[in-house]
Amino acid sequence: MEDNQCPNAVACKLIHTKGFVDESKKAFYTAHYCYADGNGYKACKRYQTALTLHFCPDFVLPDSIITTDEILAKYEEEND
Ligand code: SF4
Repeated sequence: MEDNQCPNAVACKLIHTKGFVDESKKAFYTAHYCYADGNGYKACKRYQTALTLHFCPDFVLPDSIITTDEILAKYEEEND
């Protein structure tokens, strides 16, 4: 694994699923989170969510301002 690379980068949909976010947004996120100096990935909400819940719904983005409880509630609402 390269220095500063998010451990989830090998499988993260934000990186590997075409159209998951705009290309310009993807470039911003990868530069500021996924491969950012100082292990910037640790500030990513998708990373934090996967760490806590062991999965991360698609609606969560690196800079989403939403609590884990809110993420779970929204996920359950969507998958009811
Ligand atoms: S979006 Fe977040 S979880 Fe996905 S690879 Fe980038 S830093 Fe990791």
